[in-house]
Amino acid sequence: MLEGLYKLEVSDKDILSYTEIESENDLPEDGDIEEVYYFGGNSKAGAMKTGMPTLDIELEEGENHIVYYLIKEDNTTVSEQRTKILYLDTKAPQINGLEEGKVYCEAVTFSVVEENLDLASSSIPESVSQNSDGSFTASPAAGVQEIVLRDKAGNETSVHITVNGTHTFEDGVCVHCGASDPNYKAPAVQSNDVPDAVPTTPDAAGNWYRKNTIKLTAPTGYYISQTSDESSFGTATSLDLTLNEGENKITYYLLSTDGKVISTEKTLTANFDQTAPVISGVEGKKTYCEAPTLTISDANLVQVTVNGTSVSLTAEETLTVAPAETEQTIKAVDAAGNEASITITVHNGHSYANGICTVCGQYDPQYTVNVDAQFLTQGLGSNGWYRANATLKAPDGF
Ligand SMILES: [Zn+2]
Ligand SMILES: [Zn+2]
Repeated sequence: MLEGLYKLEVSDKDILSYTEIESENDLPEDGDIEEVYYFGGNSKAGAMKTGMPTLDIELEEGENHIVYYLIKEDNTTVSEQRTKILYLDTKAPQINGLEEGKVYCEAVTFSVVEENLDLASSSIPESVSQNSDGSFTASPAAGVQEIVLRDKAGNETSVHITVNGTHTFEDGVCVHCGASDPNYKAPAVQSNDVPDAVPTTPDAAGNWYRKNTIKLTAPTGYYISQTSDESSFGTATSLDLTLNEGENKITYYLLSTDGKVISTEKTLTANFDQTAPVISGVEGKKTYCEAPTLTISDANLVQVTVNGTSVSLTAEETLTVAPAETEQTIKAVDAAGNEASITITVHNGHSYANGICTVCGQYDPQYTVNVDAQFLTQGLGSNGWYRANATLKAPDGF
């Protein structure tokens, strides 16, 4: 291969002759047909025709050794071989591991591919530091971090990121990175199929209560609360409730102990009646000679019995107790189970003795005196003749 400065006689593509130029005397004269070429020592340098005031040099990526000569226009002088080194870098720094505009939840490490990185002219926020292996780490900081990297040729790449240092959870998932919130609990699913809570102090009949406190116990596997707000639901398995006189509508909710199911609103109707029936018109333990009529009053009366046998009241809430051989107990029960009772004896008529009822003291209107008064015998003569004042004495009991 030729190398150096030559004068060539060229016809089309054929080189007819060549002579290495070793001194200025070898340079072609005006009018000569030879042309001067420079042949590089390698294919990269190539061959260059001389005689131009400028050279267009195609650089290759990386280091380029440019070898050239200066030749006077009149071909009287040629310079020694000169060399300039140029570097061509058309590639901007490449950032691997960061996404433009992305929000990161924790410090993020990225790498830069760039042989000629110029940190001095790059713009790197304080929150970004370089690691010993050459990679960079962007730490959490407020606001957007703009990272501008430049190489020695002035190519630049920029990226804008936000590093929060914490996740932004919504419904248990980070909106930025998709991470799951370890503390997240999905809301319970509402269900109509949850069994009812049971009043466990049912001192009552049906929905009627005669004590103003009841305990409402959740079915197994559920918590009970009077709020549907799961965050304040608590873990009670029963509710102690106080009733007001009359009808009480108690609303409550049941939440499964695994937190997955919550009942729809449930209602317990509880009627509170602490007032016992009132029996009036008779006196307890008393004996009556004639069937007495008594009155039983209670707003929620459900049953009246006489010696255990159910009886009906009149429309006026009265009851006439018929005579009987033995004592009779009249008992009244209301819906809540409140009771009142009274025991009386009812004779079938008066028990007269000598014209007076030994039970009630009433006189016998039918009584006829069949005994007579008698005159005492003092001064008694015969056939109604008396010789002194007479004394007339009533019989015993008169
Ligand atoms: Zn996240
Ligand atoms: Zn009597």
